[in-house]
Amino acid sequence: MKPPVRDDLRLLEGYHSPQIDVEVRLNTNEAPVGPPPEFSEALASELRNVEWHRYPDRTASGLRADLAKLHDIEPERIFVANGSNEVLQTVCLTYGGTGRSVATFEPTYAMYGQIARSTQSAVVEGERHVDGSVSVFELERVIERHQPSIVFLCSPNNPTGTPERFEVLERALEIAPGLVVVDEAYGQFADWSAIDLCDDAGGPPNLVVTRTFSKTWAMAGARLGYAVIPAGMAPEFEKVVLPYHVDTFKQIAGRVALRFADQMEHRVAAIVSERERIETTLGRLGLNVWPSQSNFILFRTSPTGRSGDDVWQALVDRSVLVRNCSGWPRLADCLRVTVGTPPENDSFLEALAEVLA
Ligand SMILES: *Cc1c(COP(=O)(O)O)cnc(C)c1O
Repeated sequence: MKPPVRDDLRLLEGYHSPQIDVEVRLNTNEAPVGPPPEFSEALASELRNVEWHRYPDRTASGLRADLAKLHDIEPERIFVANGSNEVLQTVCLTYGGTGRSVATFEPTYAMYGQIARSTQSAVVEGERHVDGSVSVFELERVIERHQPSIVFLCSPNNPTGTPERFEVLERALEIAPGLVVVDEAYGQFADWSAIDLCDDAGGPPNLVVTRTFSKTWAMAGARLGYAVIPAGMAPEFEKVVLPYHVDTFKQIAGRVALRFADQMEHRVAAIVSERERIETTLGRLGLNVWPSQSNFILFRTSPTGRSGDDVWQALVDRSVLVRNCSGWPRLADCLRVTVGTPPENDSFLEALAEVLA
C-alpha cells in the first residue's frame, strides 16, 4: 500500500516552473549573466582554506555582519537562509500554522500561498487592481475581516512588475495584528525600499523585509537569501530552522559577492534599458503590457486574437521559453518574460513577431 500523505497535502499541488531545454531561457527572472569573473576567482581562493570536516558557523556571523553593514543596521537584525523562500518558510513556521491565517494580494508570488499551506496556515486572498496595485481599502478589508498573522506584500510584485505603494505598507504596519512581510526580491529595481524604515531607532516591530541573491546578484545557483528583521526576532526563527541550515560554501559565496556590490548593482541600469526596449516592442505588437519596475514584463496576448497557451507553445517551438501564466487565476492569456541579454531579447522579440504575424 502506498502510505497516505498528510490529509491537507493531498489536494495541494507542488510549485511548477517547467525547465525545458531551449536556447533562450527567459522564464525564471534570473540575471542574464553570472557574477563578474573576479568573483569566481576570489571565491575559489577562499574555498581553498575551508575546513570541510567542520560544521558551518551556525549563526553565519560574518555574513550577517557584512549584510548589516550593507544596510547600515545591527547584525542581529539580519537573518540568512537558503534563498528567500526559506526565509518565507521560516516566517510561516514561526508566525503561521494551525489556527492562523496568512494574507496575500493576488495575483502575486505563488510561493506565499504554497508555503503557507504546507505549514498548515490558512490563506486569505485579497485582490489587486488590474494594474497590479493594492488599494488601502482592500488592504483594510482583508486585515480587519481576517486578522491574519502574516501579511505578504511584494515590491515590486511578481508577476505584475509593479511596486507596492508606500502608503499601503504604512497602513499595513499600523493595523496588522501580526507580521507584515515585504518581499523585495527585485528591490533594486524599485524607487523605494521598506528597509529604509528599519533605522537605528529600531523601526516597526512587525516588519520583515526579504531580499535574495538570486536575481540582481546573479547567484540563483547559490540559494542564498536574507531578511531584515526587528531586534529580538532571530531567536524565534532559530527555534524552527534546522541546525547549520546555511552551509559554509554559501556563507563564503555571499561574503565574497558583497565585495562586488557596486558591480552587481550597476547592472540594474542595463537591464532597465533593455526592459524599456522590450516593452515598447510588445506594445507595438498590439499586446497588453503591464508597466514594469523590475527585470521581467507581464503581457496579455488576447488583444492579438491569440491565446496565451498558443503563443507560449509557438515560442517554445522557436526555442524561446517564457513563463506561461495563462492558467493562473486572474491571468488568462498572460505570459511573463524575463529581461535577458540583448541577443536573447532580440531572439525573443523576433520569434514573437513571427508568431503574431
Ligand atoms: C525569485 C523570487 C524570490 C526568490 O526566491 P529565492 O528563494 O531567494 O531564490 C522571492 N520572491 C519573489 C517574489 C521572487 O520572484
